[in-house]
Amino acid sequence: MKSFDVVVIGAGPGGYIAAIRCAQLGLSTACVESWLNDEGKPALGGTCLNVGCIPSKALLDSSHHFSHIKHEAGSHGINVPGITIDVNKMIERKNKIVQTLTQGIAGLFRKNKVEWLQGHAKLISGDQIEVAPVGEGSAEPYVVTAKNIIIATGSVPVNIPPAPVDDELIVDSAGALKFNDVPRRLGVIGAGVIGLELGSVWSRLGSQVIILEALDVFLGPVDRQIANEAEKVFRKQGLDIRLGAKVTGTGSNNREVTVTYEDTKGKQQLIVDKLIVAVGRKPNIEGLGATDVGLNIDEQGFINVDNNTLTNLANVYAIGDVVRGPMLAHKASEEGIAIAERIAGKPGHMNYDVIPWVVYTWPEIAWVGKTEQDLKADSTEYQTGVFPFAASGRARAMGETTGMVKMLSDANTDRVLGVHIFGPSASELITEAVIAMEFDASAEDIARTIHAHPSLSEAMHEAALAVDKRALHI
Ligand code: FAD
Ligand code: AMP
Repeated sequence: MKSFDVVVIGAGPGGYIAAIRCAQLGLSTACVESWLNDEGKPALGGTCLNVGCIPSKALLDSSHHFSHIKHEAGSHGINVPGITIDVNKMIERKNKIVQTLTQGIAGLFRKNKVEWLQGHAKLISGDQIEVAPVGEGSAEPYVVTAKNIIIATGSVPVNIPPAPVDDELIVDSAGALKFNDVPRRLGVIGAGVIGLELGSVWSRLGSQVIILEALDVFLGPVDRQIANEAEKVFRKQGLDIRLGAKVTGTGSNNREVTVTYEDTKGKQQLIVDKLIVAVGRKPNIEGLGATDVGLNIDEQGFINVDNNTLTNLANVYAIGDVVRGPMLAHKASEEGIAIAERIAGKPGHMNYDVIPWVVYTWPEIAWVGKTEQDLKADSTEYQTGVFPFAASGRARAMGETTGMVKMLSDANTDRVLGVHIFGPSASELITEAVIAMEFDASAEDIARTIHAHPSLSEAMHEAALAVDKRALHI
């Protein structure tokens, strides 16, 4: 029977990073992964690389180029008559990126001597795992032992009874990444991050997109000022966002889907060519044998862990989407690094207060820390600095003047409590705020830091100055 210092279950951004870091630290490490790609071949990378972060961003980038050329290029004096889309080529490009990156992880495993056990893992005890090989010509199940186990089995899309996914007309987020043409009318259930991103892709390519959201509030967790601004902009872009619209049923023939929903006016009906169900994700513990070995699971199906991602079983840890906290790839990866280091006897570091969030619409929305509504609810005394991109020289030069940077700092100490960006490249700009908060910086620290001119980052500088009411360009 093979035996390892660490066996990681799942090779998404939580698991594969944990495995590489364990191996770097000299621990003998295996990673069990059961993913089979559309060609039936085993693949590493989990949701993020195969059907999540990376393929969605590939299509967001392609569709952004199309939309930019169609609607904005003319203002730069660039005329592109007769612009067309080749959806199959766009999807092929996305598939190639996924293939390159997932194969890259296999290469990193070889380099770091992480043994990839291709199969489905089932816990037999706190230190034994049964691996059932998957794919063509699968071998018999076998058992491995581990001094430490890291569970990183991730999450799967939530299904709702009124809209069962048929992978033809009604699809989940994975299905929405492989349409072979642009649906004329596209329904999306859920105006969360995934619904907005996928809705944006197909809207930019020409679909008429209707997003049905059960809640009355748009992007509830986002700072209100930013969310309100974003809602206005997305509506102007053509996204038909219907709030307070609870989907109650669907019916489909071979060509179109009829969606019924209820809003304040009563029963409504909508006919679309494709429907994306993007109502959230749930932890994945299917077939893991979690309850058989006595793992504590909460009522929503998450594996219970302490602050160090230790479960109730000795030397069994769980990280990423299968445990509490934001379902984000970088959160999963950082938990993976931290636990690998703790297993190796080092002080692993994980700061849950400073995790950046991004919605990859255009403009992008990115934030870290507290929102203004959080601070009001906590009765924290705070001060605010806002700087609009319309006043940024670089943003003007780019033709990207929508949105703003908003900084919130403690009224007494000036410590930065939250930064919220709606604007071009917000996903990149937010890192400055993340670093500032990680180092407990004040808004004044950012205000006194020299930012390159002309750059979008000057908006961060000006927002910091605005906290002290001394912004220079507004
Ligand atoms: P996963 O990536 O889900 O990986 C878990 C792996 O475990 C899978 O490969 C699965 O096959 C394997 N597995 C499960 N059970 C077993 C078992 N018993 N035996 C063997 N293997 C098993 N996050 C971001 O931060 N940024 C984004 O831009 C972003 N975009 C997204 C877009 C979409 C469309 C979706 C769906 C998600 C997106 N996410 C994004 C979320 C992100 O993908 C997840 O937070 C992240 O993948 C979680 O990582 P993980 O390692 O916990 O789990
Ligand atoms: P997220 O959890 O960020 O992926 O967002 C999923 C969104 O889907 C949430 O905002 C939910 O309110 C929304 N949602 C869930 N069920 C329904 C439903 N039946 N009809 C419309 N929206 C829904």
